[in-house]
Amino acid sequence: MIKKVLIANRGEIACRVIRACRELGIQSVAVFSEADRESLHVKIADQAVCVGAGSNTDSYLNLANILMACQISGAEAVHPGYGYFSERANFAVALESLGIKFIGPPTDAIEAMGDKASAKKAAIASGCPVVPGSDGSVPNETDALGVAEEIGYPVLLKAVAGGGGRGIRRVNGPDELAGLWKTAQAEAQASFGSGEILLEKCVVEPRHVEIQVIGDSYGNMVHLGERECSIQNLRHQKIVEEAPYAALPEDVRQRMGEAAVRVALSVGYHNAGTVEFLVDSNNDFYFLEMNTRLQVEHPVTEEVTGIDLVHLMLRIASGERLPLTQSDVKLSGHAIEARITAQDPDKDFAPSTGCITGWRAPGGRGVRMETHCYAGYSVSPFYDPMLAKLIVRGRDRAEAVSKLQTALHEFEVSGVATNIPFLRRLVASNGYVAGEFNTAFVPKFLEGTLD
Ligand code: ADP
Ligand code: ADP
Ligand code: MG
Repeated sequence: MIKKVLIANRGEIACRVIRACRELGIQSVAVFSEADRESLHVKIADQAVCVGAGSNTDSYLNLANILMACQISGAEAVHPGYGYFSERANFAVALESLGIKFIGPPTDAIEAMGDKASAKKAAIASGCPVVPGSDGSVPNETDALGVAEEIGYPVLLKAVAGGGGRGIRRVNGPDELAGLWKTAQAEAQASFGSGEILLEKCVVEPRHVEIQVIGDSYGNMVHLGERECSIQNLRHQKIVEEAPYAALPEDVRQRMGEAAVRVALSVGYHNAGTVEFLVDSNNDFYFLEMNTRLQVEHPVTEEVTGIDLVHLMLRIASGERLPLTQSDVKLSGHAIEARITAQDPDKDFAPSTGCITGWRAPGGRGVRMETHCYAGYSVSPFYDPMLAKLIVRGRDRAEAVSKLQTALHEFEVSGVATNIPFLRRLVASNGYVAGEFNTAFVPKFLEGTLD
């Protein structure tokens, strides 16, 4: 087993990985920015190294400083968490050149799935259905108009290197496309360092359903079922996720799982990853992208499979074999995660910063909290507004929904505005309770136009 791991991340995910290290007897090294000195991840790690000033580019995205922290601490391996360097092949390469393990997939697999265009090519090659669209990125506006005409409007313009819901624009007709093409390209270049754009059919009111896969470096891979993540904000960012998607027919679940494993194996994948699909009203599914890292919403899969994904990631990176086969994977019960963010629902979800003066977290059977926050902690403007993930588990969906409602009722945060009041309303709505929703649900809920 690896003996010492540096966690190249912050916030709740750093805490999550540090705990898993301790449970396995692995020494943990936290990194932190000057703005994060008081964060929980710094307090619970065995060792902590400051990697720069508050802004991400000065600290968590400062490659030289992160590599220096690895060397100073003598870490043998790095867990990248999500975001930051987690999907950057050059980070894995830089670590390898120093003889340090990257806890994640091989560099080639990160590269193959790294941008949306090459990922779709890999999916097509492995026989997986994809959302109809351009063959790779589109070179110019004339070609874009041609492809859009062929597949039919509405279409989406997507930054090939985009992620986290950013870099996606809907286009309803040729006139709009003419206006948006240049802006989309310029924005993609500025935000993601690549102006490449692909064009995709806009699937009408789909569900977002994704499959967790995990494999070892000996060619063994399993899928751990699906997560339903259609409750998304206006910027395509997930807010509430659940496992399983109870209404998914068993044969579709199986075919999606097999397709996900096939795609992953086709690029030589190992360790944990997620294959994202859109599912339409006929339960036809289409590959969307693959996230080559631990996903924010991984706890719901852990709750219904009883498998600790971070333990497995660490063991696989240490060279162990996958300790289970597909027939060992059994789903039981129902789990839901809600992302608690410092965003003010009364101010268009604007980020809210400052000191958390009061923090009353929910508890009870089947309630799990993943957070780096506590009373007295200051929320900094530099980072993602997510404060906590609240995960509940019940015997079935109805019980899980009731536990989520109860936990949100208990959860009180003062000092910063949070989305908790919004979440309470959302999970009490008829459509949510009935499980009748898709990716268009939250926009309609906010407009007050649900039936
Ligand atoms: P990101 O890398 O930002 O996660 P994705 O391609 O995974 O981008 O898409 C994020 C979300 O955007 C999806 O979950 C879905 O809600 C919406 N979306 C993406 N592609 C389509 C599409 N072709 N049709 C309809 N909705 C889409
Ligand atoms: P997932 O695909 O795992 O469901 P999302 O796409 O909603 O997660 O969010 C992951 C994205 O959020 C990352 O790619 C990154 O842009 C951002 N992000 C994730 N973790 C952090 C973090 N600790 N600090 C800042 N931003 C983060
Ligand atoms: Mg995605």
